[in-house]
Amino acid sequence: MTAGLLADRGLEVLLLEKGVFPREKPCAGGLTLRALSALGLSLPQSLVHEKCYVFRAVLGECVRETCFEQPYVLTVDRSELDAFLLQWAVESGAAVHTGERVLSLQPDLKAIQVQTEKATYSTPLVVGADGIPSLVARACGQRSFNEAAACLCANIPRPPVNCDRFRGVLETHWGLFDWGYGWIFPKRDHLSVGLGMWGRGRNLKALWADFLTSLDLPPVQPQGHLIPVGGKPELAVADGFVLVGDAAGFADPLTGEGLYYAFLSARLAAQVIWALKRQGLPYTAGNLAQYQKKCWQKFGRDLNRALRLNKMARRCPRLWHQAFKGSADWFVKALQVVQGEASYQHLFRWAWPRLPLLWLQSQLIH
Ligand SMILES: Cc1cc2nc3c(=O)[nH]c(=O)nc-3n(C[C@H](O)[C@H](O)[C@H](O)COP(=O)(O)OP(=O)(O)OC[C@H]3O[C@@H](n4cnc5c(N)ncnc54)[C@H](O)[C@@H]3O)c2cc1C
Repeated sequence: MTAGLLADRGLEVLLLEKGVFPREKPCAGGLTLRALSALGLSLPQSLVHEKCYVFRAVLGECVRETCFEQPYVLTVDRSELDAFLLQWAVESGAAVHTGERVLSLQPDLKAIQVQTEKATYSTPLVVGADGIPSLVARACGQRSFNEAAACLCANIPRPPVNCDRFRGVLETHWGLFDWGYGWIFPKRDHLSVGLGMWGRGRNLKALWADFLTSLDLPPVQPQGHLIPVGGKPELAVADGFVLVGDAAGFADPLTGEGLYYAFLSARLAAQVIWALKRQGLPYTAGNLAQYQKKCWQKFGRDLNRALRLNKMARRCPRLWHQAFKGSADWFVKALQVVQGEASYQHLFRWAWPRLPLLWLQSQLIH
């Protein structure tokens, strides 16, 4: 996205990608409305697999379901969405080299030397959009996040029986571990099924088989991947370097949503880089600090709050089990954040005075 936006403004951009597109990317492909708006491009209808109107959350015997009048999440296939974005970058004027892995990055006095499997390039600026684990983040001395959620996921053909259960529905299963959830996201001809666990504690592989059995789904070998949580905007720049998306650790610490932050940070990075170029200013960490400021204002403060809520929930699982089971209010408030109607700061302010009562209820009931 950054490459496309900058090339469109006339900058000379080279995009290096180790994969050959269309390539697979482990992802449930849930595109929230705020992600769609941050994408800012009109998404071809052919890329939309399902429009989801229902959010279903299951915790033990308790099932909460909300039905929306408008679709609140679209599901896409990441190989198709990413190929569309890459094509858009090419059409915007970026030079794209796929199948070319970056091996190392060496900053020297004037430029950064980028060594790939095929060549060496010299550039005043590298945008690290290389996901997790990010080679660029390591090269510029950043450990941009200190935690990651471990995920297992697989695409599973829609079951022949009871297959309408998942049509237009995002189903999530909670309480399997201290924080995290299992998901079933519907796609055109299959289901994206996964488990995402924040922190340690349970053997995910052992849980995987039980999870599929509980859903009456056939056994399938899952793929493993990580979602970075706890990214800090202040660590996303260095002299000649900018990190965006997962490389900067920008993903939601409570839901794992990453596409919204990837699109938004990519756009903010492009804005700042373009402004520096126009003013003829060098890409120093000091000048690029505008990017971290914008990220902090747009979503950094909110991610911080989400991280605090996450830590609280992990320290005291009973508390959020009670929030889930006790009243629908907590569920509704949390969904407003996913919908982009409220921020985690709102949720935090709303939750704070209600926590003592919730805690008391959780102690009495359990
Ligand atoms: C199992 C799972 C499910 C998820 N589900 C959702 C969801 O439903 N909704 C949502 O919003 N988010 C979801 N996420 C998060 C989302 O996938 C990420 O936040 C998002 O992909 C981040 O995009 P990115 O461009 O920063 O990184 P990536 O999508 O990881 O892209 C990085 C790119 O860099 C390339 N690359 C890496 N290293 C090199 C190298 N050395 N040289 C050249 N190229 C390189 C890779 O090939 C890749 O194409 C999920 C994540 C996981 C793991």
